[in-house]
Amino acid sequence: MRSPFFRRRWTIILLALPIALAAGALRDPLPAAAPSAPQPAVAAVAPRAAAPAPVAPSRRAAPAAPPAATVPAPADTPIPAAAATPTPRPAGATPRIGIQAGHWKSSEQPDELARLRTSSGAFAAGYKEADVNLNVAQRVVRLLESRGMVVDLLPATIPPGYDADAFVAIHADGSSSGNSRGFKIATPWRTSRAAQHLLDTVTHEYARATGMPWDDAITFNMRGYYAFNNRRHTHAIASTTPAVIVEMGFLTSAADRAVIIGRADNVAIGIANGIIRYLNERDPRDGAALLPPSFKTQRPIDAGGVDVRAAPRDDAKVLKHVGADGRIFIFQERDGWYQGVVRGDFRVVGWVRRDQVASTDDPPPTPPPDTDS
Ligand SMILES: [Zn+2]
Repeated sequence: MRSPFFRRRWTIILLALPIALAAGALRDPLPAAAPSAPQPAVAAVAPRAAAPAPVAPSRRAAPAAPPAATVPAPADTPIPAAAATPTPRPAGATPRIGIQAGHWKSSEQPDELARLRTSSGAFAAGYKEADVNLNVAQRVVRLLESRGMVVDLLPATIPPGYDADAFVAIHADGSSSGNSRGFKIATPWRTSRAAQHLLDTVTHEYARATGMPWDDAITFNMRGYYAFNNRRHTHAIASTTPAVIVEMGFLTSAADRAVIIGRADNVAIGIANGIIRYLNERDPRDGAALLPPSFKTQRPIDAGGVDVRAAPRDDAKVLKHVGADGRIFIFQERDGWYQGVVRGDFRVVGWVRRDQVASTDDPPPTPPPDTDS
């Protein structure tokens, strides 16, 4: 009978080995998703002996306490109105992280989400998605706790207004054809800079730890995830909590199952390292980074309409042509492009050039459609 300590030591060795191998074997498979900041050496989840130190204490803000009930921010950063978070954490506080195991205990959803009580997710080869999600989520929780963080393992039901330094929902995909594979990660519709940063770091570290292909093509279902939708539900995360939803891979793909079930530790390391890297790189005083932006509805300037493209580039695939009377609901801006959905066809999530559209007073869809992924 092994002591708990002995077991833990083995866990550490098993966790540390694959990341060392992955770090050596993989050569940045995702240039597009890589954060612009130089890659820090934080990524590995350190063995427990070195762990008690909180994540990146040197990057913390000075201990000067921010004013109560406001997002901590440097003096020169203007904070728009309604910037308060439900429970602000003073600079230097231990990071709090929410890890949601998708579909877990979905039968306990509250009345407002009663339609999701039977939501059990994908099923393939004898595996239930809820079980696969929980298995990985528990490993992520242990890794983050070993780094001194406060971690909440959350079921399908989100505590009302849940507020944390980061929230990651863990899911697995399914497809009827069985040919689809790869992982996807998405932010809420309205993407704060912090959420975009978390998306970048988790995407990069997940690819590095698992070697899985990244699929950024279809994000509608994920961006409309019910747990993000605090405009419609009480049981949703706070709008200022940086959040992503991870589809770890396809349960219906044998190749993906070999990773998300067969190498669940690698999967957990990828997610945990993405969160750790975000916490190390962020500026905790930059409260404005937490605020989801809001944009005016856009219309094409040219009478010929405008192309909605798959990526913010002139040579990216055209997903849809929007005529002069069309409207595009915007939720993100990057490099002179807007990302949004097309009125009347929310399945089209794409990019338009900012200089090819103009603002209108047409209200955005409220609340946005939501899904259970
Ligand atoms: Zn799911």
